[in-house]
Amino acid sequence: MSDRVTPAVSFQGVTRRYGSVTAVRDANLDIAPGEFFALLGPSGSGKTTLLMLLAGFDQASEGQVLMSGTPISDVPPHRRRIGVVFQNYALFPHMTAAENVAYPLKMRGVPRAEREKRVNAALGIVTLADRGASYPSQLSGGQQQRVALARALVFGPDVLLMDEPLGALDRRLRDQMQVELKRIQHELGVTVIYVTHDQSEAMAMADRIGIMSGGELLQVADPETIYAEPSNHFVARFIGECSILRVSTTEGGKGYEIAGACQELPAPSSQPFDIVVRPENVVVSPASKPVQEGEFGIPAKIREVTYLGAGWRVMLELSDGQTLMAGIPRGHQLAGSLTPDTNVLATWSPDSVAVLPTES
Ligand code: ADP
Ligand code: MG
Repeated sequence: MSDRVTPAVSFQGVTRRYGSVTAVRDANLDIAPGEFFALLGPSGSGKTTLLMLLAGFDQASEGQVLMSGTPISDVPPHRRRIGVVFQNYALFPHMTAAENVAYPLKMRGVPRAEREKRVNAALGIVTLADRGASYPSQLSGGQQQRVALARALVFGPDVLLMDEPLGALDRRLRDQMQVELKRIQHELGVTVIYVTHDQSEAMAMADRIGIMSGGELLQVADPETIYAEPSNHFVARFIGECSILRVSTTEGGKGYEIAGACQELPAPSSQPFDIVVRPENVVVSPASKPVQEGEFGIPAKIREVTYLGAGWRVMLELSDGQTLMAGIPRGHQLAGSLTPDTNVLATWSPDSVAVLPTES
């Protein structure tokens, strides 16, 4: 993000306590105008609390929230230019789709003719132009969520907050809505903060992801960086599959040694560290294959094999007893002989592993 652009949203040292529970601890985060930002974390990690503080339905215990550089603690929710979409749609059952979408405009005193124009435009954006007269009970879950989205967008908010908006939909509809949401965001250029506990959804949709756990923002980065360079054990395990291996540090923190093989790091580490290896970066070869120049290789034994359709997932045991997960694609030379107790060689490219601070 460029330093010169005033962030659409800033959290500055924001903490929210409920009695002895700290729901959000010292959150510091800038979100750029037009950015699609995902807040990702397990249930109870503080995601909704952070959204509620921004929407104005809740007050920070410490710190402040800014929109376009201005603190908003004195601005009531309906003046914040924020649209909100929840998982459970929260549509008024006795109002038609069009009446639901018109509601925020009515509240803001927009005249009828202007209201009708904007409602039609909003329903058009979510491809429900012909369903304005339907009641929520006459619409599918996906259509109801589109109405909720139209209602959140109809007054032209600067920021759109979505709290697990696709959580109630089945997988296929979710995939479809993900594409749809990205299209709409692109069309409108609105800043989106999107809460989810689904890592693949966050990876697929977001420009940047903030990973939350226990009320803390553990890492904020683009999806590729989060995946390739997780900042700690929690992030590494939460995003995708991986093995975290204990290693001994070689002299001066210049590299690592594992199961008798040594590898230099690009830059020495002053702290004790573990390494993260993604299964798709591990190459499994017959035990007799020599380690090539520029590769890191260790002997291993197959422990478990799982068929995944597109290939296999194998659990390998290293000579020091640690477990290493590897992906084997279809057509691999060992495909027919992936049986437990087979000795193999496991190799990876040294730049495909990330280093993590050791945790006790
Ligand atoms: P998430 O959305 O990530 O599931 P929440 O932000 O809802 O997490 O909750 C974070 C923590 O704050 C949880 O431990 C939750 O129990 C607590 N919490 C949230 N809202 C309240 C509240 N109104 N009163 C007391 N505790 C709350
Ligand atoms: Mg929540």
